[in-house]
Amino acid sequence: MNIRIGNGYDIHRLVSDRALILGGVQIPHELGLLGHSDADVLTHAIMDAMLGALSLGDIGHYFPPTDPQWAGADSLVLLSQVDQLIRNQGWQIGNIDSVVVAERPKLKPHIKTMRDKIAEVLRLQPHQVGIKATTNEKLGPEGREEGISAYAVVLLVSSS
Ligand code: MG
Repeated sequence: MNIRIGNGYDIHRLVSDRALILGGVQIPHELGLLGHSDADVLTHAIMDAMLGALSLGDIGHYFPPTDPQWAGADSLVLLSQVDQLIRNQGWQIGNIDSVVVAERPKLKPHIKTMRDKIAEVLRLQPHQVGIKATTNEKLGPEGREEGISAYAVVLLVSSS
């Protein structure tokens, strides 16, 4: 079998004294995401999808939140490590599709920068990195602005 597919999901809590970082991009907002690392939910969902495609577990296994080494970590650095892991196993990314669920702020103006950044880290073309944004119609934790979540699907292609 020369293709594999994986999905990933993440959610982090919005708080007042943190930066909002999504897809490696710092987005001006009065709230940011709380987490051990930079709490970049989008990058976390993509990493989990990459690992999931090869049944390699989840990011908590590789970057445990109890490990001080990952405190405040730039999630793009972790993404690069996960990319190396899948490349070492003979796989490369065909494409990524993802969605960020956030009531506010409007993410549309930042999507291109996020795609470019993730593509650069993963050594892909931006057209291989799909990022969409939606509100949750004021429903649930995202709708109440208690948190931001992200979903990702990643297709891996055998590089041999
Ligand atoms: Mg996370």
